[in-house]
Amino acid sequence: MQTQSEIGYNSKIEGDVVVTTVDAALNWFRKNSVWPMPMGLACCAIELMAVGASRFDISRFGSEVMRFSPRQADCMIVAGTVTYKMALSVKRIWDQMPEPKWCIAMGACASTGGMYRSYAVLQGVDQIVPVDIYVSGCPPRPEAVLDALMKLQNKISKEPVLEKLTITNLKKEAA
Ligand code: SF4
Repeated sequence: MQTQSEIGYNSKIEGDVVVTTVDAALNWFRKNSVWPMPMGLACCAIELMAVGASRFDISRFGSEVMRFSPRQADCMIVAGTVTYKMALSVKRIWDQMPEPKWCIAMGACASTGGMYRSYAVLQGVDQIVPVDIYVSGCPPRPEAVLDALMKLQNKISKEPVLEKLTITNLKKEAA
């Protein structure tokens, strides 16, 4: 019986034939082409810019294509303090991103509100969008963001794609 940890990348080469599952193949495409939507809101955004610089070579992970259009992005990286004034815009941009989509909360502010225990600041972006990976730090180093990206890739590789598609189709038919 296939276990949860085997659902990800489990291709085998036997002779000249590659044997795999549809889920593993689709997840392999997805995890190696995560296009980030940089949601820079405060000082963490400066470190996010460093992540995209040549020194850290984010293209090793297929994520060098930063997109400022939500329609073309897969992963929102929330970098900075989410004030209530900006929260609605963050939510709106998230809603405009097509499925499948993921979210990384970069830094203390995006994860929990950070040091701003204030009436003006949302205490964690996960109150308005589902967060997949949290990155600690104030600000986190670029290596920590790359580590989060690798964790996200690992998570994507275990997602049951066909099962989700079937459920979505059944829901559409029932509606
Ligand atoms: S976590 Fe620190 S560096 Fe990042 S936005 Fe908040 S105060 Fe700025």
